[in-house]
Amino acid sequence: MSNNYKNKIIDSMVHILPEEFITHREKFLKIDLTFGELFQNPNSKISNIDELLNSMEKNNIEKAICCGFGWTNKKLAKLSNDYIIQSYIKNPTKIIPFCSINPLWGDEGIDEIERCFEMGIKGVGELHPDYQGIINCQLSELRKFFNYCENKNLPVVVHASEPIGKYYPGKGTFTSKYILELIEFFPNNKFIFSHLGGGVPFFALMKEFSNPFINSYFDTAAFSYIYDKKIIEIIKDIIGVDKIIFSSDFPVISQNRIIQDILSTNLSDTEKEDVFHKNISKLLN
Ligand SMILES: [Zn+2]
Repeated sequence: MSNNYKNKIIDSMVHILPEEFITHREKFLKIDLTFGELFQNPNSKISNIDELLNSMEKNNIEKAICCGFGWTNKKLAKLSNDYIIQSYIKNPTKIIPFCSINPLWGDEGIDEIERCFEMGIKGVGELHPDYQGIINCQLSELRKFFNYCENKNLPVVVHASEPIGKYYPGKGTFTSKYILELIEFFPNNKFIFSHLGGGVPFFALMKEFSNPFINSYFDTAAFSYIYDKKIIEIIKDIIGVDKIIFSSDFPVISQNRIIQDILSTNLSDTEKEDVFHKNISKLLN
């Protein structure tokens, strides 16, 4: 089944990986904590650029942001970053490249983003605070990384999750409390919190917070697995439709599933356009 939505769609988070991650899967599972956690189940899908382009074509998706994972191994980070950049160079009208590193790698991490920035990346992520040690570090240790991203105007995608509910691979414990601390510490950085921020938009209703999400956005990655689709309308009511960004998390879930769930909300046609492409386009400018 494919959607019959005719307006522009940008998928703001998909994951692709090069062949090596399939041929050396067993070895890579052992050397990178995040890859190990997300892909220890042999059924966890790995897709390449052709499979992504195919799915985009089927679902009328004009562009996709290719993200990395919250790497803990520098060699794998570089392999993945290179593949995303090469895919972008070959498909410049369809792919928007993001790179990923561990913000705790210090100058080596910054050098890697700089290298990728010179080749065209538009953002960084998806970071995984649990496996990368971000959740336990002093936020000041992240200052160099976030200053770099702020200076280059690079939004940072951060994996987030719910404090309750079932366990799933890669869920982690980076929940509302940590998100609020992070954005308070780095108020000038642009953040995209994955998976609707694990529900953190709800806390904008607390009287002690006045507009905490000025520079934060929330993507719909794999949200159909976790929430009733009503959450989209409720988040819109709390923090505004301009904060919601469509992403699928392909190949974890089909792009079509998330598109259909957003289409079937009671968002107006213009609000759907905001979610499907306008909000992310503004953020990247
Ligand atoms: Zn995630």
